[in-house]
Amino acid sequence: MNRCDIPAILAGYPAGLVEPVLHLLAEGRLGDALQRRYPLRHAVRSDRALYDYVHAIKNECLRNTPPLSKVVYDNSLKLLRQALGTHTRVSRVQGGRLKAKNEIRIATVFREAPEAFLRMIVVHELAHLREREHDKEFYQLCRYMEPAYHQLEFDLRVWLLWRDAAAM
Ligand SMILES: [Zn+2]
Repeated sequence: MNRCDIPAILAGYPAGLVEPVLHLLAEGRLGDALQRRYPLRHAVRSDRALYDYVHAIKNECLRNTPPLSKVVYDNSLKLLRQALGTHTRVSRVQGGRLKAKNEIRIATVFREAPEAFLRMIVVHELAHLREREHDKEFYQLCRYMEPAYHQLEFDLRVWLLWRDAAAM
């Protein structure tokens, strides 16, 4: 397979990983394969539930990080680009002191995604509380919080590819 045949969302992954996926997609069997592997939906439907879900992981894995002021689903985050979630640190002067507010926004598509993918994106955004860049330390922290992090990130991309193809 030619490098340029790899869909943008799977760019950077070896052809040996991507080819079987494209094969299943072409045969119309990718949806079933994903369903078998990730049968679990989740009940994190509202922003309130998402807030609790994110805090549970934060309390379990990242106790000594700054508090989160806001956690919401955001349907303006554009998929198939980079941003599946965002973490922002907003600094405001409050009562003469500079206060940093941490916000996490998760693309609304994760409301319908298998639970493992929601967890993966939450782990990613939480890791940014400690590590700003996508460097070695960042991914180490992600793997500490979710040992299958890299597999889940790949499978999430496959799921998004399948979802996109199914919508056409
Ligand atoms: Zn990031």
